[in-house]
Amino acid sequence: MSSSGIPVLAVHGGAGVRPDHDYAEACAFLGEILSRGASALGEGRPALDLVVEMVEAMEASGLYVAGKGSSPNRAGEVELDASLMSGHDRQSGAVAAVRNVVSPVRLALAVLRESPHVMLAGAGAEAFADARGLPRVTDPGAYYAPAVDATGLAGARASAGALDHGTVGAVALDVAGRLAAATSTGGTLNKLWGRVGDTPLVGAATWADDRVAVSCTGQGEYFIRAAAAHDVAARMAYAGEGLERAAAAAIHTVGDLGGNGGLIAVDRAGNVAMPFNSAGMKRGMVRAGGEPVVELY
Ligand code: ASP
Repeated sequence: MSSSGIPVLAVHGGAGVRPDHDYAEACAFLGEILSRGASALGEGRPALDLVVEMVEAMEASGLYVAGKGSSPNRAGEVELDASLMSGHDRQSGAVAAVRNVVSPVRLALAVLRESPHVMLAGAGAEAFADARGLPRVTDPGAYYAPAVDATGLAGARASAGALDHGTVGAVALDVAGRLAAATSTGGTLNKLWGRVGDTPLVGAATWADDRVAVSCTGQGEYFIRAAAAHDVAARMAYAGEGLERAAAAAIHTVGDLGGNGGLIAVDRAGNVAMPFNSAGMKRGMVRAGGEPVVELY
């Protein structure tokens, strides 16, 4: 989508679309948060704060496979992953396989701001959340309401989680020219206990530097092996590719490996690319002062 240099915000609610599922509410919600985001962009909100606010809203909505809408793994536990990155200073925070944390992306931000580390996992990350007073889920059975029903899935779909992605993510270029990206997920459906995908891995699902910000969604194992988010940045930095071409090539590599999914990316000139090789991808974008555009296919 065309360059303008105007601050811009893009979000996704996951790649993969089931023909029998109605995504109207999930898409409408993207439009709502983008409208709010457009005002915040215009008011000069920093890119990192904005992407966290967008992702946190999607986590809380229960409409996507992240936060409240996440599905339990095969052991019956909801385990969540999230990461974020700020481009101008390459600061990053991430959490993996955390349980009963209301907003994994907020916890990732706390890791970035309040720890000497980039990633915390499992019980240690949960203790860190408690020490920071971040909200926890006290009754998981009542809180989690899976956005995608895994019970009807069988065979290969059940084991691969291939078609029902609902990870959420956001990328932004703010008025000061800073870029940021954030991604959060409940992971693939029917995942094994302890499985960690691409979402909390900087360079796989999330990347931001002073050139580009990227958030990916799809079959995480392939995005890890493709270093997909960083691949976009590397193509732009080392091969001089433009955003559209670099983003498409990164998804092409994921596809060559046998995986499906998509990504959203914004560069420092305000160009936006949102390629995917899955059946669809819930996604949208808005420029400061503009109207949101939301698409599914
Ligand atoms: N990438 C996520 C994962 O593998 C899933 C998704 O995007 O829906 O955990």
